Amino acid sequence: MIPKTPFQYELWIGGKEVPSQSGKRFDRQSPAHDAVVGEYARADVVDVDAAIEAAREAFDRGPWPNASGAERAKCLLKAADLIRQQKEELALVETLESGKPIAQARDEMDWAAGLWDYAATLSRHIYGDAYNSLGPAMLGLVIREPIGVVGIITPWNFPLLIVSQKLPFALAAGCTCVVKPSELTPGTTLRLGKILAEAGIPDGVVNIVSGFGDPAGAQLSSHPQVDMMSFTGSTSVGKTVINASRGNLKKVELELGGKNPQIIFADADLDAALDAAVFGICFNMGECCNSGSRLLVQRTVGEEFVHRVVELAREVTVGDPLDEKTKVGAIVSEQQFAKIMGYIDQGRRAGANLALGGQPLQILNGRFIEPTVFDSVTPGMAIAKEEIFGPVLSVLTFDTPEQAIEIANSTMYGLSAGVWTRDLDTALSVSRRIRAGTVWVNTFMDGYPELPFGGYKESGQGRELGRFAIDQFTELKTIQLHVGPRTSWWARRRETNA
Ligand code: NDP
Repeated sequence: MIPKTPFQYELWIGGKEVPSQSGKRFDRQSPAHDAVVGEYARADVVDVDAAIEAAREAFDRGPWPNASGAERAKCLLKAADLIRQQKEELALVETLESGKPIAQARDEMDWAAGLWDYAATLSRHIYGDAYNSLGPAMLGLVIREPIGVVGIITPWNFPLLIVSQKLPFALAAGCTCVVKPSELTPGTTLRLGKILAEAGIPDGVVNIVSGFGDPAGAQLSSHPQVDMMSFTGSTSVGKTVINASRGNLKKVELELGGKNPQIIFADADLDAALDAAVFGICFNMGECCNSGSRLLVQRTVGEEFVHRVVELAREVTVGDPLDEKTKVGAIVSEQQFAKIMGYIDQGRRAGANLALGGQPLQILNGRFIEPTVFDSVTPGMAIAKEEIFGPVLSVLTFDTPEQAIEIANSTMYGLSAGVWTRDLDTALSVSRRIRAGTVWVNTFMDGYPELPFGGYKESGQGRELGRFAIDQFTELKTIQLHVGPRTSWWARRRETNA
């Protein structure tokens, strides 16, 4: 399944594959196997400028912003079909570059295709308001227009899925785009270029530049010809993007980190909660903004429940991402591996009890870490507050709902949370008081294109998905339409003086 020679990629600018102007390239080693799996053109400032110029031209003079919703929908639906048709190859590329399990990568391709389908429906529902209440001489129209050229920067954890949370919605609104995927996982995003051309999206509407955060991402987010940035990644780089955007006050939408609590009340269906607790920390090796990385358990059931979590997590299959049975694959990079191991060390030194794992695993030629569970964690510890982005669960206990809410809200993040209880009052009152963009009740990490996604506090700004996505990628314009003869300002002045 590992290709004999690495996949080759160029930049995608103006509707065609082009090498970088410097001729420079970079490659990617599979995090699980000792093999180079992709070689990519390396975009510099001049290449990003060329991509922005193509997007600007396509927005200012091209047909896409003025195409009807029906025409745009046709292209987006076709793109969804093509993603489904190419699912096997796309999933393989995703697994080889990111280290995620192949079965999960396939699911992500279906999920991504569903986002293109849904965005197609929105492109036919871009509507505004009409005010027929301003008196007989005035009709007020409030319309939505595409915001312009959108820069999209994506991370390495869900490459095709995250670009699909942004790009089809920007396209549905009539925008043109420049996309910069993570240098670690650019393959599937670069493949979108040909897919979108085949789907009928005109040249220059989507441009894709593989390259490093600095200079490629930095140039995109600071460029005066870019009207909006849509970014997913770390909170610290999100803040850098905001700073870079100041030059032309471009709009910035951010989807950042999380330290998401799953709150388990004693009256919950504990079997279901157990499964979700282990899934919540092992899914995508814990490299997930939505990971349920904090487990808050009511003290009366705490000891028994944590024991069961440890026993179930011990059973999780860690191994070759290309093996169909694998549930936890390889850690994406040496840097990420060191970061996770550093937090495990900090947890030990801070006095938390290492109940499971904490060790690297020798599998293939890759970087693997055992599912790890710390209990006796207190809210002030770094492993209770900071995003580890690895398979490391921090367990805290509480006595009352009030305490659970206080602990849940005690980090700088506010992306998502889970609440497990059979009591409707507890479910609703706790959900309402948690400061997070998504709260799951008696389930965890489900997602639907219809439902908005994003964070409170330092987990981001703005929302993706749902019909609100159209608001993100459009400007509001007010048109005031005068009806009948207008009383002139000069005549009104004379009347007043008379
Ligand atoms: P980053 O935030 O550094 O990277 C995300 C994207 O931003 C990548 O495309 C990156 O490019 C780009 N980027 C980097 N520097 C700049 C810059 N100065 N201007 C514009 N774009 C830039 O995430 P990392 O990959 O470094 O991961 C670090 C940590 O971030 C993780 O441990 C995790 O905590 C968090 N994270 C959160 C994610 C989420 O979904 N919320 C996703 C990924 C990471 P390049 O790849 O070339 O560096």
